[in-house]
This record gives sequence, structure tokens and C-alpha cells, in this order.
Amino acid sequence: MVEKAERKKQLKAKRRAAGLCVECGAPSYPYSRCEVHRENHAYGKRKLREKYKKSGRCITCGRKLDKDIDGDNVTCSICIEDRVLRANMADIGI
Ligand SMILES: [Zn+2]
Ligand SMILES: [Zn+2]
Repeated sequence: MVEKAERKKQLKAKRRAAGLCVECGAPSYPYSRCEVHRENHAYGKRKLREKYKKSGRCITCGRKLDKDIDGDNVTCSICIEDRVLRANMADIGI
């Protein structure tokens, strides 16, 4: 795992040095990210979650939450079920 992360770091450094987007390798000089990834990076996953939360959407998938079904949860029933299922699978070793 450490090796993989290190390789990723090296790839990013290489791309940056070549004037390419560190995320996808598209030409992005003089920036270290292309336009798409610059925006994504600035926005960030956390901000997206906040946005979903504020607009009453599931913070995991962005689906509109239903008060009757989902109550005060910030994740929808489908994502919760998904998580439970995955946890159960981990429990029995799948
Ligand atoms: Zn990119
Ligand atoms: Zn969801």
C-alpha cells in the first residue's frame, strides 16, 4: 500500500514538472491541474457533502432524502442498507 502511494506521488511530481494535470495528465501549464480538476479540487468532497446536506440530499450519493423514509438521516436508506450489507459481508469474510 505504501509503495502504491509513493508511486502515485512520483507520478504527480512528474506530471507537474512536465506542465501536465497531476490528476489526469492533460496539458495544464502553467497550472498543476487542468480546468476540470482545478475546479474539482477547489470544491472538494467535503464541500459537496455540505452542499448535499444543506439541500436535504444524501451526503453519499446525492439522492433527495424523503423525511418519511429517511427521517433526520443525512444518508438515504439505500446507502445505509448498502453500508449494513457491506459490514455484514465483512463480518462473514466475503
Ligand atoms: Zn485533469
Ligand atoms: Zn444515498
